[in-house]
Amino acid sequence: MKYIFVTGGVVSSLGKGLAASSLGTLLELRGLRVIMQKFDPYLNIDPGTMNPYEHGEVYVLDDGAETDLDLGHYERFTHTNLSKLNNLTSGQVYQSVLDKERAGKYQGRTVQVIPHVTNEIKARIQAVADTMGGDVIITEIGGTVGDIEGLPFLEAIRQFAHESGPGNVLFIHATLVPYIKAAQELKTKPTQQSIAKLREIGIAPHIILCRTEHPLDLDVREKISLFGNVPIEDVIEVRDVKHSIYEVPLKLHEERLDDVVCKQLKLETPQPDLTKWRHFVQRVIHPTHHVRIGVVGKYIELQDAYKSIYEALTHAGAANDTKVDIVRVDAESIEKAGPEIYLNGLQGILIPGGFGDRGTEGKIAATGYARTAGIPFFGICLGMQIAVIEFARNVCGLKDATSTEFDKGTANPVISMMEEQKKIKQLGGTMRLGTWVTDLKPGTKAHQLYQADTIKERHRHRYEVNEDYKDQFEAAGMVISGISPKGDLTEMIELPNHPHFVACQFHPEFLSKPNNPHPLFNGFVKAALAHHHVPEALS
Ligand code: GLN
Repeated sequence: MKYIFVTGGVVSSLGKGLAASSLGTLLELRGLRVIMQKFDPYLNIDPGTMNPYEHGEVYVLDDGAETDLDLGHYERFTHTNLSKLNNLTSGQVYQSVLDKERAGKYQGRTVQVIPHVTNEIKARIQAVADTMGGDVIITEIGGTVGDIEGLPFLEAIRQFAHESGPGNVLFIHATLVPYIKAAQELKTKPTQQSIAKLREIGIAPHIILCRTEHPLDLDVREKISLFGNVPIEDVIEVRDVKHSIYEVPLKLHEERLDDVVCKQLKLETPQPDLTKWRHFVQRVIHPTHHVRIGVVGKYIELQDAYKSIYEALTHAGAANDTKVDIVRVDAESIEKAGPEIYLNGLQGILIPGGFGDRGTEGKIAATGYARTAGIPFFGICLGMQIAVIEFARNVCGLKDATSTEFDKGTANPVISMMEEQKKIKQLGGTMRLGTWVTDLKPGTKAHQLYQADTIKERHRHRYEVNEDYKDQFEAAGMVISGISPKGDLTEMIELPNHPHFVACQFHPEFLSKPNNPHPLFNGFVKAALAHHHVPEALS
């Protein structure tokens, strides 16, 4: 087993997660079994209770772990099957250390960052290696070198490398090489200083990934090589990609990153076959068709809040030789000005997941607009709950219908909490989480899209469609197309008298892959294409 640790310097948002994932893609295509994991230095146990403004999307795994969105990149770029083992936060580390202290496991000793906290971190690397096997583990350390809270993780990986012996561990450091316009020059000083900072803690990077807007000329590479104390071939340019994040593995391969990694770790592997990946990227960059889809949410201005949904739309677009233009619509603007001016002319409307009542009336109006105008509609999690509320109000005539999440005392709680959920007091990690089975009803659009009787999808919600209203909904024309095996939980709904009105209680976006788009996204993009066919690519 070989270990690669990816650290970041100079600034955050360098694309470290994407670089790590792309290296994962390349090593997999060289025939290696790659495991990916992320260490996050913050004190939350997981990002599950964090606001999207703080953290972006919360990514959910099969086992119900609520994780950093970089794990979404890992799953999209590689075939690793991730579990809660693969995302470790300082909060988890300290919780485990303190539990052991209370249980008397430290036998009267003073409990300290070194060795107790660092041992806990090293034990996690070992646990992943032992349970998951594989040839290479790529571990990304969140944050930036120099952050106080990241120090225990860096010290732990330093010790880990020392104990593993030479040739088994590789440190990759990602930095920024900024371009200073006035001087018309790329500047290497921040990179030099960031490497010096790493050295202070005893880590000498083997490979330096240089994020840059401009090509790294030979003299810049030489300088980084000299001050970074690495051969020039280990200075890797990571230039901003023009069109798509899926270009990154191709760029890194051109820079021979996978060659130098394999050479340094003495891994004898063939060159990767990038044909399929290249085809996928070609379809993303140069599609024939074009479709405009509105996403109506309340975190629309954030790049990362609906990350997996945007990626899933890209995958489905590529499969249909189509560029999906995402029109981000703020639900609260719809509340002020009505849906027409924002949604008119769109070929599809998607309502993503969400929490709390801000913007819900705007989402309900958008859903009503899609339903009555026959615009293809896709509701995800809260999006399905919104579709049910809109149907209850405007088709079944239950004018005050809503979810008890928004109004506890409503007379028509068409979305409500399950009895088991009502007993729960703790907020973190207590929703209906992870993989649950859904039975699909034959003859429905859902069944036709999945081509399966039973499916497994990932969940993250507390509220459910209230069983007491199901008969009334079905009598009014709603089809419950997906249901839990026990028959009590509504997992999917659709409207048969509409060109495409499909919603699900789970999060299909977490299972979409570049060359294997999710059937629900695929069906939605196809329906949007059929809604108004725009023959020419506009991009
Ligand atoms: N807020 C809703 C619930 O808890 C929906 C959650 C979501 O969209 N992920 O049930």
